[in-house]
Amino acid sequence: MRDNILRLENLQVHFPLKGGLFDRVLGRSAGAVRAVDGIDLNVEPGETVALVGESGSGKTTVGRVITKLVQPTGGKLLFDGEDMTSVRGSSALRPYRHRVQMIFQDAYQALNPRHTVFDIVAEPLRSLRLVKDNQLSERVREALSAAGLNPPDEYVARFPHELSGGQRQRVVIAGALAVKPELIVADEPVSMLDVSIRAQILQVLVDLRQQQNMALLFITHDLPVAWLIADRIAVLYLGRVVEIGSADEITFNPKHPYTVALRNATPQIGVSENRGELPALQGEVPSAARIPTGCRFHPRCPLAFSRCRDEDPPAVEVEPRHLSACWLAK
Ligand code: SF4
Repeated sequence: MRDNILRLENLQVHFPLKGGLFDRVLGRSAGAVRAVDGIDLNVEPGETVALVGESGSGKTTVGRVITKLVQPTGGKLLFDGEDMTSVRGSSALRPYRHRVQMIFQDAYQALNPRHTVFDIVAEPLRSLRLVKDNQLSERVREALSAAGLNPPDEYVARFPHELSGGQRQRVVIAGALAVKPELIVADEPVSMLDVSIRAQILQVLVDLRQQQNMALLFITHDLPVAWLIADRIAVLYLGRVVEIGSADEITFNPKHPYTVALRNATPQIGVSENRGELPALQGEVPSAARIPTGCRFHPRCPLAFSRCRDEDPPAVEVEPRHLSACWLAK
């Protein structure tokens, strides 16, 4: 078995709620938003794992914990065997920021409009002091070329507003690649792009992963996109992984009723033999400030029975490396 590059152990991010006057007078807690509520996950070197879930599932918060933009309130974040959970401060985090990069959803927001493409891609190399001045130009052009901006000389002097949406996202990818990371966390990197451009950007990520043996944690609400790009898929619901397995298993042989419902909502994927008679998903994800008792999916689950309301089902292995947290899993 290969060592993990990333491991999350019972990771939690609970944001305390500000109470009302009575709470403050009585000194009682107003509760917390349990955005991430006990996630276990591992990523191997060179592997792509997709985190899939609806809005409110906690997937973006997980990405922000890994990139050290949010501090967890419980559990552990291990990177290449080292406990990074409590490491803070820019100098202590410098080696980590070299090895872990993030690609954000909105490329326009992520790019400084007053900087040229060259300066944007060079910025992490400069701030992390990774290359000498005489190597900078070559490294920037190499990253632009790897992200599909060819020839790079055509792009280095441009500003973000002179680029298309797809080209801007390629610049963001080039900025992440320039530092030669071992893990990239990509949060919905194609969701704001035209459908025709999405496939090209996904292909860039697939090619890079193969060429550079880089691990990728790909965050998306879109199960077909996850299937296209990932080796494994973890399905999140209300801050927990409810099902995890190979991309094919999760897409074509889902076991958890939530995954089945997600899948049924995506007509791009053909009908699975396992689809059963489950109706499409009803309602919205409940607030993470009021997580239901028992199985957190029970208010929306068409298969719920009495035990589901009282007891939280553990994740059990239903196939090798395929786990589902449902009392009906077998
Ligand atoms: Fe549905 Fe019960 Fe399974 Fe939860 S444990 S997914 S409520 S059947």
